[in-house]
Amino acid sequence: MKIHEYQAKNILRRVGVAVPRGQVAETPEEAAAAFDELGQKLAVVKAQIHAGGRGKGTIREIPAQHGVQLVRGRDEAARAAANILQNTLVTIQTGPRGQTVRRVLVEEGCEIARELYLGIVVDRGRASPVLMASSRGGMDIERVAAETPELIFRESFGPDTGLQGYQVRKLARKLGLGGSSVRAADEFMRALCRAFVQYDCSLMEINPLVVTKAGRSAALDAKMTFDENALFRHPELSKLRDPSEEQPVEMRVAEAGLSYVKLDGNIGCLVNGAGLAMSTMDLIKLHGGEPANFLDVGGGADTEQVSEGFRALLSDKNVRAVLVNIFGGIMRCSTIAEAILTAYQSVGFRIPLVVRLEGTEVEKGREILATSGVDIIPANDLTDAAKKVVAAAG
Ligand code: GDP
Ligand code: MN
Repeated sequence: MKIHEYQAKNILRRVGVAVPRGQVAETPEEAAAAFDELGQKLAVVKAQIHAGGRGKGTIREIPAQHGVQLVRGRDEAARAAANILQNTLVTIQTGPRGQTVRRVLVEEGCEIARELYLGIVVDRGRASPVLMASSRGGMDIERVAAETPELIFRESFGPDTGLQGYQVRKLARKLGLGGSSVRAADEFMRALCRAFVQYDCSLMEINPLVVTKAGRSAALDAKMTFDENALFRHPELSKLRDPSEEQPVEMRVAEAGLSYVKLDGNIGCLVNGAGLAMSTMDLIKLHGGEPANFLDVGGGADTEQVSEGFRALLSDKNVRAVLVNIFGGIMRCSTIAEAILTAYQSVGFRIPLVVRLEGTEVEKGREILATSGVDIIPANDLTDAAKKVVAAAG
């Protein structure tokens, strides 16, 4: 689950990480008032969306305007907010559709001396979180990662022991920090790593972490993503969810207990079990097709779930054919066949549907489909199914 920058900064402030003072505004008037309240000559007005690249991103309705703007007065703050709010911000991370901005963060501005990068992710190879740091922070970090990956330094740390002092000193040396900045970095990095573990994050990113001309450091940007599997341990975090930022289909499907990820191809897949879903996607690609999604209906696959899954697939305008690949284990294939038929009729299919069933009572399941009079393309095995659905999608 992603949250907004201002929400992430509230959390960071609570765990002792230095962040600039700021206030959220939903109207230009609120932005002007926020500017006054900060009482500084310089402020920054920042679009709040669940995507990065805002500084370079442009407002679709007014292409000269960016998602992050420096302002030097209450009127300028109001104007910047008016240009951003309720408009569409297009960044490299939103894709061409962009994202409607509903809030801006008005924050005290600072004079930047250096922009550093700090990120924490889970390194599955090492089975531990890893802190990444670079002295080349700012808006071009993706280019740094692509062209000069040796300028990004890594230290993995145990979730119980946290980041150790010697690791901070090692990183500080590589980042070219000296003197009092080493102590500042120590507090900063360790607090971040603690928060990452405490809140069950899957990603945390501070880009840029700035050193100001006055010698202070602060997180100018903050991105935080939580592991959904651990959200039950943090009821206060669930409240930070912003439904307007999430794809409605993905939300509905999640409520039905399915996991759905939209992709760019044209073959819809409905599968029970994540491993089977992966191999289904592999086989489709092997035979020259492109999956439109990943959809795991879980171990069950009752009428309710299959219907919701079908609706999700058909809501994607790119989908030209659908492949249902179900392995009946505890759930019998005959039950699944009935569920597919009921869902097929209630959802209203108008594109080819290939079904491959295997497992308990498979003969009975196939017969139910074959004698139903419904226009389903049966498949005998996974390869057969993949070939047929790729052909059907054209
Ligand atoms: P992103 O583009 O979505 O990652 O948004 P950021 O929050 O990182 O802001 C983009 C850029 O705006 C930063 O990399 C900074 O260079 C600049 N910026 C943000 N706040 C300030 C500020 O207070 N003063 C100055 N001079 N620049 C700022
Ligand atoms: Mn940033």
